[in-house]
Amino acid sequence: MWKLHPLNFGEWPDFELSRFLYNKGFGQKIRAIATGFLAVDGDRAVLIDAGIYDEERALADHDQRVVNTGAGRVRAALAEYDIEPEDITDVVLTHLHWDHAANVPLFTRAQVHVQAAEIEYAEDPLPPHQVSFDHGLSQPAPWTLVRDRINVLDGDTELAPGLSTFHLPGHTPGSQGVKVCTELRSYLLAGDNVDLQANWDGDEHLRHRPWMVYVDMRDYWASLMRMESLADVIVPSHDPNVFEREVW
Ligand SMILES: [Zn+2]
Repeated sequence: MWKLHPLNFGEWPDFELSRFLYNKGFGQKIRAIATGFLAVDGDRAVLIDAGIYDEERALADHDQRVVNTGAGRVRAALAEYDIEPEDITDVVLTHLHWDHAANVPLFTRAQVHVQAAEIEYAEDPLPPHQVSFDHGLSQPAPWTLVRDRINVLDGDTELAPGLSTFHLPGHTPGSQGVKVCTELRSYLLAGDNVDLQANWDGDEHLRHRPWMVYVDMRDYWASLMRMESLADVIVPSHDPNVFEREVW
């Protein structure tokens, strides 16, 4: 049975809320987390998302102020569970944006699982999306450094009993959610289709409130609808509330 642990890979201390909530939250600042997850079952240690760049590179390449980030933070978060990067057998990237894939080269022994549609788009994103994919910057996108270890997924895939990925396009063409079944319940690690609990909970106007970064709203909305029946709990990608849950 899988044990699931959320990992704090650093944070944005003052993130503009309206970037997370479609047409809402203007002028409000929140604390946002770069969340990863560790799922362990026997000899299999699976990391879901690989954290963000250090402060300097995040500011230089992405104009974003972050704190306590980078490869050192990823190592430290894993060390709390006595896991070294070399112990990780699999890395599942929910998508290839820099703040989910930055440290994937750290996991030298892992197979890396990415949706085919995501790789196709990351190779040649539209201009407004290029920076998020580290496309055309001075340093290569990290995922391109581990190409030989990428297991390209073509849609929904069971990676192991109790651990599956679901192709949920919207935020990006190849976004995937990762379903992990623990002894207690099933979780869908939603990637950036659901950044905050508020995206999933919605409000009086919208059953779920998307965020403003997406490639296709039709796909995005269909993915949100589909997620309703995929797991017991939908887990957001950047919400500090994830760390308030003590038992997974
Ligand atoms: Zn993203």
